[in-house]
Amino acid sequence: MTEACEWAAGELRKIPGLQVELMTYRAKGRRMVEEKDVVQVVAVLPGRTDRRLLVGGHIDSLNLQDDPVTGRAPGADDDGSGTAVTMELARVFAQKQWEQTLVFVLFSGEEQGLLGSTALAQRAKDEQWNLEAVFNNDIVGSSSNSSGYSNTKEIRVFSEESDDHQSRELARFTEWTVRHALDDFGVKLVLRLDRFGRGGDHSSFSSLGFNAIRFCEVHEEFDRQHNGEDNPEFIDPQYIRNAARANFAVMSAMADAKPAPTRVRVDRRQGHDTRLTWSSEEGVEYVVYWRDSASPVWQGSFSAGAVSEFTVMGINKDDHTFAVGAVGGLPVVAR
Ligand SMILES: [Zn+2]
Repeated sequence: MTEACEWAAGELRKIPGLQVELMTYRAKGRRMVEEKDVVQVVAVLPGRTDRRLLVGGHIDSLNLQDDPVTGRAPGADDDGSGTAVTMELARVFAQKQWEQTLVFVLFSGEEQGLLGSTALAQRAKDEQWNLEAVFNNDIVGSSSNSSGYSNTKEIRVFSEESDDHQSRELARFTEWTVRHALDDFGVKLVLRLDRFGRGGDHSSFSSLGFNAIRFCEVHEEFDRQHNGEDNPEFIDPQYIRNAARANFAVMSAMADAKPAPTRVRVDRRQGHDTRLTWSSEEGVEYVVYWRDSASPVWQGSFSAGAVSEFTVMGINKDDHTFAVGAVGGLPVVAR
């Protein structure tokens, strides 16, 4: 694990502008043979502000079929794929400075019980990171499985609905942004935290109140996970490229967005049009979004400009949900 992290950190240090840290934390868990200090990779690309976006995948893997300690565990898809996407995003994003500070993480200890992400989420909370979104990439490299199922055109996004965080809204905005940025690849929203009986590093963050989602391929090959068969020849280069493009679409939009509006309200007076108000910041331009109250995804938007109110004509507030966001930023649902 340490060798893998040191290799990856070395690769990331070749990218100008990245501040690369081998973060040490104390690891203990049900799959750990003994409690000890372990490392993971945290690379920071400073932005013009201290608002943050985080993207990551887990660099560890394990072989439960043969022997967890000695068994060969290539982990190409779970989660070499997320690791590769994260490293490629670091390379691409580092070519300019963004409004937001970007954090690229190669988590360790995922298979031992989300140990690395738990440690980093706690650190983010303790250090009061202004962390607006977490994008976890875990099993994102293959479009098909040996049962004959295939989907080359979509990637799943898992999210939890909660009053404590806006992870579900982050998922909706990801779907919307990818839909408009890419015409050959899209997001399939899954309205639950994760697959049955499975978990991922995004949940370490959402459980502490951060907005966090998980990207995951549509048709996993369960027979190749957590054994010696998760090999690179089963990675679909075009699919993993599209996974990275989907991440880039939403992250690059959010990375240059100004802060979200506050006090976003629906004018409750009866009428066939919908008037929205919010607290704005000078010079910031806003976008209004709407969806039918029963629709899982945003259905339309209007550019409102640098204003603090907007009236949507002919779309009834009683039947629809509205939101307002800074251009490129996470929309805030109007109450
Ligand atoms: Zn995994």
